[in-house]
Amino acid sequence: MGIFQLPDALANKIAAGEVVERPASVVKELIENSIDAGSTFISIDLAEAGLERIKVTDNGDGMTEEDTEKAFLRHATSKIKNETDLFRVGTLGFRGEALASIAAVSRLTVKTSQGDLAGTYLALEGGAVKDRSKSDARKGTEIVVEDLFFNTPARLKYMKTIHTELGHVTDLLNRLALSHPGIHFELRHNGKSLFKTTGSGDLLQVIGQVYGMSTARKMLPIEHDTLDFSVKGYIAKPEVTRASRNYISTMINGRYIKSMQLSQAIIRGYHTLLPVGRYPITVLAIEMDPILVDVNVHPTKLEARFSKDQELVAAIEETIRSVFRRTSLIPEMEQKKPEQSTVSIQDSMPLDGPQTGNLPHKSSNLVNEQQPSLEQPKTSGLNWQETFLDPAEETPVYHGLEDFNSEILASPEQGTISDDHREDRIPVIYPIGQLHGTYILGQNENGFYMIDQHAAQERIKFEQFRDKLGQAPNELQELLIPLTFDFSRQESLFIEQHKEELDSVGLFFEPFGNQSYIIRSHPVWFPDGFEEEIIREMIEQIMQHEKIDIESIREDAAALMSCKRSIKANHYLNQEDMATLLVDLRKTKDPFTCPHGRPIIIHFSAYELEKMFKRVM
Ligand code: ADP
Ligand code: MG
Repeated sequence: MGIFQLPDALANKIAAGEVVERPASVVKELIENSIDAGSTFISIDLAEAGLERIKVTDNGDGMTEEDTEKAFLRHATSKIKNETDLFRVGTLGFRGEALASIAAVSRLTVKTSQGDLAGTYLALEGGAVKDRSKSDARKGTEIVVEDLFFNTPARLKYMKTIHTELGHVTDLLNRLALSHPGIHFELRHNGKSLFKTTGSGDLLQVIGQVYGMSTARKMLPIEHDTLDFSVKGYIAKPEVTRASRNYISTMINGRYIKSMQLSQAIIRGYHTLLPVGRYPITVLAIEMDPILVDVNVHPTKLEARFSKDQELVAAIEETIRSVFRRTSLIPEMEQKKPEQSTVSIQDSMPLDGPQTGNLPHKSSNLVNEQQPSLEQPKTSGLNWQETFLDPAEETPVYHGLEDFNSEILASPEQGTISDDHREDRIPVIYPIGQLHGTYILGQNENGFYMIDQHAAQERIKFEQFRDKLGQAPNELQELLIPLTFDFSRQESLFIEQHKEELDSVGLFFEPFGNQSYIIRSHPVWFPDGFEEEIIREMIEQIMQHEKIDIESIREDAAALMSCKRSIKANHYLNQEDMATLLVDLRKTKDPFTCPHGRPIIIHFSAYELEKMFKRVM
């Protein structure tokens, strides 16, 4: 469509700001241009993390000779023409500033061709054209950026170590690869290959290349369409978690976006399945009419605003929940392979893969692969014969537990089960006995199971209490002795401001002077002994979210009650108690984790057992 300089009035409407901060920002702008040019192959070659040299080669549309010159002018773009276009941006770029900004702080050469006639070669230094000629006719564009910041020494001083800068580039490549599974990316550093994707279009394959195959194997597909949105992608089973939110990736129309709102919706979708302080791995590609998205919020376009955001957030949360309602999530024990010497596992990073060289720095996105791991089952000092309640019962296992790797893995053949077959998500398990007064041991034709009795009962009670609290009327109960609360200045301000809301949920704070308040009654559903805790939680919610979410308060109350009222470890259970507990567990909605996200059941498949005893090879 040809490159034109935007008129000032329009240029001024575009979020302005420095886009060239470090080598990774140059790589980002160049790759985004390659993507916008329809490339299916993009290779990136770096020397010294890009500070010395960045070369990006693509097989996209290329530029005409005339456009090549224009491309380096400020506000010169082929992607938007007028203000209307600004409201329906379908490309990654639209500001027309990147090439001008990059050229201004480097020595840059470009070779480009549209594939028919000869191509164009242009060399610039600090933004000024130094040389021009014809080049070969290979369709596509190759841009080489050398001596970045050579003329802005102050900026150069800000550069961190080669490792850090390279880390930023690999993070970026991960994100771009996840957003564009159909593009074949190749990253090389100082001649060594660091990262490669096949460009097959298979997102799960890219997830394997970015996060490792063992993580990819634990991803569940999700897909949901509404009139306005389509959400597609993969979410990790709750047994695979990370310590930060960095592994939650959201893409809108092919653009990687950071959105607190979307991340929170995803986390809420996991609900009680995540341990406290742990976050999931998810990759969601969201498509919507570009008119619903405003990407012109920030110069790096990492943030976006979108209309109908509440609808989108609700759809994402509900879709994730429904995936877990349909899926069996029993983690499975995996036999330790002989060559594995350590218990902790590291996902095999594609960056270390056979076809690649060694990455000196694993970007922040790729390190800290912490997996939730159970304590290694101990066999020492344990007399299995004694612990089993029924010695006559033939027990399948006596030794060999030390051969288990303590990681929790999911069985790959687990399928999905429809909502109305809730009990089928956990098979019928027959109790064999109790271990350490803490775990129920069970079996069926599929193998051997260990069930954490406290966690199981907590889950059962939690769901019972939650249902009960959910139906309880909002009637008030008078307190014999009123409760007194002393609040901080800020808290009492919030209480005054949100008086109506508090009244509506049945909490009437009577001022008692000096930021003190009296409560004479509370809703009947407040469980005995937890009144003060629940009231404090409501105040906390008001402070944080300016509103009270009664449903979540009831849920937290249910979690509190279930934990306090469940059998603890070191509690003897007879055969009947155990059988009842297992039957009740099968009836719960989320039989796999306790309300705090800890696992309830571990499975040792019959096949794994046979392998351990070398009955099969
Ligand atoms: P923007 O991407 O915002 O339009 P840029 O300064 O990044 O601005 O690029 C200016 C123009 O140069 C683009 O609009 C596009 O027409 C052209 N261009 C840049 N890189 C490429 C490329 N790799 N292949 C084809 N055209 C390109
Ligand atoms: Mg651009």
